[in-house]
Amino acid sequence: MAEPREDMSAFESVTFFFNEVADQVGLDDQTREVLSGTYREIRVQIPLRRDNGSVETLYGYRVQHNGARGPYKGGVRYHPSADLDEVRALAALMTWKTAVADVPFGGAKGGIKVDPTALSLTEQERMTRRFMGQVSYIVGVNRDIMAPDMNTNAQTMAWMMDAYGQRAGHSPGIVTGKPVELGGSLGRDAATGRGVVMVTNEAVSDAGTSPDRLTMAVQGFGNVGSWTARLAAADGYRVVAVSDVGGAIHNPRGLNINDLMDHLRDSGSVAGYPDSEALTNEELLELDVDVLVPAALGEVITKSNADRIKAQWVAEGANHPVTPVADRMLVDNGVVVIPDILANAGGVTVSYFEWTQNIQQFSWEEDRVNAELGKHMRTAYQQVRDYGRARSCDLRHAAFAIAVERVATAAHLRGYV
Ligand code: NAD
Repeated sequence: MAEPREDMSAFESVTFFFNEVADQVGLDDQTREVLSGTYREIRVQIPLRRDNGSVETLYGYRVQHNGARGPYKGGVRYHPSADLDEVRALAALMTWKTAVADVPFGGAKGGIKVDPTALSLTEQERMTRRFMGQVSYIVGVNRDIMAPDMNTNAQTMAWMMDAYGQRAGHSPGIVTGKPVELGGSLGRDAATGRGVVMVTNEAVSDAGTSPDRLTMAVQGFGNVGSWTARLAAADGYRVVAVSDVGGAIHNPRGLNINDLMDHLRDSGSVAGYPDSEALTNEELLELDVDVLVPAALGEVITKSNADRIKAQWVAEGANHPVTPVADRMLVDNGVVVIPDILANAGGVTVSYFEWTQNIQQFSWEEDRVNAELGKHMRTAYQQVRDYGRARSCDLRHAAFAIAVERVATAAHLRGYV
């Protein structure tokens, strides 16, 4: 078996997991070549006129990894570290995620290399509209559907939908995660965090314990992290630490998440919350908690800190938060890692419900969305767990194996390979 290297790029890391599983499921060489590459990649130039009249030249990306199971699907992130390799890795993860969740989509991802916190709202709107204009020739309601990711949100999706609609006519299904007033789905905002909590509940129940006996730390307090913390606390976990880009806070007696949300709204960060002590983001990861949820950036658990992770369960709210070297170390140390392609699949699952509602021009009630999400997430978890038990492999390799087999079957049936 090949040894992972710590200096692998994000796409090399995802390909490493894919190759390990391709060996395990006996994938033939031709199928392996098709599934390990990407279908289409574009880089677009985005000249952005700033409010002061100057023009800044930005670059954006859209990568379509594999469309055997349905239209390409994936978020768009605005971040200084976004580049073609990262977007490619995230697009591949979307192919495997949609397959594990068994929603009829392929995998894609997009991004703009930019620090959006340095832009005004009107600059963000101009940038978003221009990006959508540049990629509009390769996306479509039945071709490639966008969604929010880091530093993008329902407002971003509304601008994208409007920009696309100017060319193609009213097309709410071109984006998911849009405002409910424009055809967004009830429950989409909370869906990724809700899914993280649902699969974590399944995993701890399999270990014979329950949320009310467990502590949790969450890195990142944006869409995924804040909903995870809020819903986990409601299910009985004692959420003792959370963080954002401004720093981490810790209270061993448990944080009052609703109160903390008010503090965040008023101050712009969880840092400085009165009823807590300050920590660094690195210290949060190494706290003595039962469940750790990285829900911010990629590659935060690496060779250099994996041995100091004390949590029994790591639920990957973020995409690719654990490097392949660190993944082996965690598994060797007996940590149960619930992989990104399973743990954070709740978002794309409710995106599928949103797309379905847009096509049907019919809205579901929130209870129905949450109930259907629960069915999908629990089924996905149980299939992964059972596969892993039957073949003595960890949850990541089981999830990848199920996904690769599903995508390979679709590719063969279409006659791709
Ligand atoms: P977001 O922009 O809403 O929130 C990101 C959070 O991370 C913020 O609290 C931010 O302050 C924090 N953060 C940024 N840099 C940090 C740093 N250096 N250290 C600590 N915290 C930092 O983004 P999001 O949508 O919640 O996405 C978070 C992760 O979840 C990403 O990896 C994303 O790909 C993944 N994800 C998101 C969704 C979704 O539906 N939004 C679905 C699946 C996976």
